[in-house]
Amino acid sequence: MAKLKPQTQTRRVLTYARPYWRTLSLATLCLLLSSGISLSLPWLLCDPVNIMLAQKSIPDLNIFMALIVLFFIQTLLSFAHNYLSGAVGQRVLADLRVGLFSHLQSLSLHFFLRRRTGELLSRLTNDLAEVQTLATELPVNIVRQAVILVGGVSIILVMNWRLSFLAFFLIPVIIFFARFMGRRLKALSTAVQDHLAQTTTLMEEMISGIRSIKSFGRETYEKERFSQQTGKTLAIMLKRLKISAAFGPLMVFLGFSTACGLMWYGAREVFLGKLSPGELIAFIMYAVIITGPVGSFARLFSKLQEGLGASRRVFELLDTVPKISDQRDAKILPALLGAVEFDRVCFHYIEGQAVLREVSFKIAPGEKVALVGPSGAGKSTLIHLLHRFYDPVSGGIFIDGQALQGLQLKSYYDQIAYVPQEVVLFGGTLRENILYGKLQASEAELISASKAAYAHEFIMAFPEGYETLVGEKGLTLSGGQRHRIAIARAFLKNPRMLILDEATAYLDNESERFIQAALDNLMKDKTTFMIAHRLTTIQKVDRILVFNQGRLAEEGNHEQLMAQQGLYHHLYTLKQADPLAPPQSV
Ligand code: ATP
Repeated sequence: MAKLKPQTQTRRVLTYARPYWRTLSLATLCLLLSSGISLSLPWLLCDPVNIMLAQKSIPDLNIFMALIVLFFIQTLLSFAHNYLSGAVGQRVLADLRVGLFSHLQSLSLHFFLRRRTGELLSRLTNDLAEVQTLATELPVNIVRQAVILVGGVSIILVMNWRLSFLAFFLIPVIIFFARFMGRRLKALSTAVQDHLAQTTTLMEEMISGIRSIKSFGRETYEKERFSQQTGKTLAIMLKRLKISAAFGPLMVFLGFSTACGLMWYGAREVFLGKLSPGELIAFIMYAVIITGPVGSFARLFSKLQEGLGASRRVFELLDTVPKISDQRDAKILPALLGAVEFDRVCFHYIEGQAVLREVSFKIAPGEKVALVGPSGAGKSTLIHLLHRFYDPVSGGIFIDGQALQGLQLKSYYDQIAYVPQEVVLFGGTLRENILYGKLQASEAELISASKAAYAHEFIMAFPEGYETLVGEKGLTLSGGQRHRIAIARAFLKNPRMLILDEATAYLDNESERFIQAALDNLMKDKTTFMIAHRLTTIQKVDRILVFNQGRLAEEGNHEQLMAQQGLYHHLYTLKQADPLAPPQSV
């Protein structure tokens, strides 16, 4: 992807704030007024200070009390501005987060295979937070500092230009230090973000891989890996901390030194009668006020860089085009009959490593087809292609005579159902999990689907029945139970074509019997493709496609293939000898 120019990027980030322009305008108005008050304060203090120094009348000093009112108004304005711009920031962040979530879902499997989950999560959290700063806090802050800088400089020039030039000579020293440290800070901040993303990735891998870690007893190894990463992150964070901790104090030191220099020269001007004592104090206050924006411009600049870096990563994600999407003239698939044809389909994940080679077959509506073959033969890949998770590299797939690539995906997915090998239940109730198959299904439909899937009985045995919570915060179901929930989901959907990946995990006889009966119910009159791992299933299907190294090696029903005494016969005999642990799926 071509890199976006910083200006284009900033403009793009700002488009997210556009819907909230009214609130932002109000926030900016409050900001301008409160900055105006800040600027007027030294000026307003001039006379009271002169009065105090001349020890004139005491009632004149009441002006100090009037200043409290002004301070109070400024406090209210600052509050309003902080709250309003902060609220817009949070809204922009929420919009971006939802946008990114929904875009991620639309991307093809290709994309997810190349990325690590932790890295994606880091973009959804850390990077988005930085973009939020870029979209709202930064513009407002830059305006505030610019107003104070321009206003302050104009006022002191009018007050005493000679003294002003001395100030302009001293201030660049501050600018130099601020920019130098700002740049260092920016480089280190980027490194910190990268290290944090890697730390998140490791955490995520630990959580998702906890079973393997435990069963291999690799806790110490993983802890070591994590400590090393954390150590690296810590080292770079401490480096950044050193610079950021020195930044503020150094700026204050330079500010005070400038003030002393100005006092030294300004007092002469007072002796010569060119400046009143009150004006000198006001002048010094302005010089300090001007130093603030100069220091923070460098910091804002580094924040801007951080925000732009993060926004580049976020936009990279948003600009990733799904490899698989509807063609412009995609046709809506009418009621699916279930005829499937593969015509010389070739496929690879990695160039030069063919996974499917010239695979051709024709399946009639309603046929039950089992895919078998040694591990790595390409069965799952064929199922992916049938799902159009990927497109073939060459050759064509036809559904009821129409090219799959030319069909509107939703109209196709609405009519097929997939029961995976490893069923994932989403956090929520059992009811919600089954309704995933048809969101608006009635209670009667829900129960009838669960009964047909042999799930109703075990669900009702839970005290909470269909309202039982599953997933992270709830109950963990057994593999067999999860499978039956997935079958109930598929029943609700009432598809015309089924894709099944039989569980390889060993299920007890009872569980297996239930699942088999549920699947028999589900498959009735539907074209069914399944990766079969059980002998009982395989003997019942109409046709068996035997794959070997990406080629369709044999084709026929059980009896025909056994009579051929080929690969199928070999796999079947092996499996019969040891039904539990063969490396091939028959
Ligand atoms: P099993 O019975 O073990 O599940 P299978 O017959 O389903 O095997 P596939 O999963 O389709 O086989 O894999 C076929 C080949 O493609 C294998 O050599 C595998 O290493 C390769 N492969 C699968 N997925 C990917 C991927 N995402 N990237 C690269 N290669 C892949």
